[in-house]
Amino acid sequence: MPNEISALLADIKEQVFYLKELGVENFAVELPEIFFSPKSKVQSPKSEISREKLERFVPADEILRKVAEPAPEVLNIEANQTRRNLLESTKLSRLPSLPKRNSFLNNQPQEQVKGKEEMPKTTEEIPSLFGDVKQKLPESNETIEDIRQDIGNCIRCPLWEGRTKIVHSNGNFQADLMFVGEAPGADEDASGEPFVGRAGQLLNRIIESIGLKREDVFIGNVNRCRPPGNRQPTAAEADTCRPFLLREIAVVRPKVIVVLGNTATQNLLDTKTGITKIRGEFQDYFGIKVMPTFHPAYLLRDPRKKREVWEDMKKVRDFLNK
Ligand code: SF4
Repeated sequence: MPNEISALLADIKEQVFYLKELGVENFAVELPEIFFSPKSKVQSPKSEISREKLERFVPADEILRKVAEPAPEVLNIEANQTRRNLLESTKLSRLPSLPKRNSFLNNQPQEQVKGKEEMPKTTEEIPSLFGDVKQKLPESNETIEDIRQDIGNCIRCPLWEGRTKIVHSNGNFQADLMFVGEAPGADEDASGEPFVGRAGQLLNRIIESIGLKREDVFIGNVNRCRPPGNRQPTAAEADTCRPFLLREIAVVRPKVIVVLGNTATQNLLDTKTGITKIRGEFQDYFGIKVMPTFHPAYLLRDPRKKREVWEDMKKVRDFLNK
């Protein structure tokens, strides 16, 4: 019986701790300290009868029978049964024990346990139940000309006010390789052609470094109008213009898109990861390989980064030559 009471007190104490952790307040429960070990008993001075006292009242063989401990398994079964009965009567058995409570918390929605998880940013990050199945680019039955007609004399975002010419994507409409930049600069705004200034000339050399010519590839920008003072397009401006580029990608269906610079990478892949972290590793855009690398304008400011772009372009070349 002392073992049963001890086990019961330990269980009640555990349940009280659990209720407190759940936020139940104003507990007026004073529980005695229990030093619980497999062999421990609740010590009661009244139950302690010395062997000498016993010998005065009962024969020696009777003493031996009475003081003999029951078999451990019998004791455990009886103790567990008594404990169960008491817990049932107090309804405490309906609460999960501490170890069970941990698994109960693990089964809760993640937001409740450790805050909101960041959503996946690219189609490649979406886990698939059936292996490497990714979303595919939808079929398109329009032409590049259709898209240009739809753009028309576009005033869908504020950038139209400062532009000289809309700078459409151009190049080979059936290219295996496409380049995507951020937005036109002054030279592009004046000519209506993407990548024609100094950065454009460097891009030509980058294309030639992998054995291709400019006319072999398709080149465009996320935004088609020059931002004032060459500032970065706002998120709203990028969101407004980007669908035209995505429709062109669906028409051209290149095998690889090289995305140039931080803004274009974040806009195309819908990610907040910076270019220095993400460059050099193929990403996925609806089944199309995307290689983020530095913008040629950045290379003009820091020519030491050309080596990294060269390494990235070798990966593109090797993929296209497979
Ligand atoms: S940047 Fe794009 S959406 Fe904005 S006005 Fe120019 S073409 Fe239209």
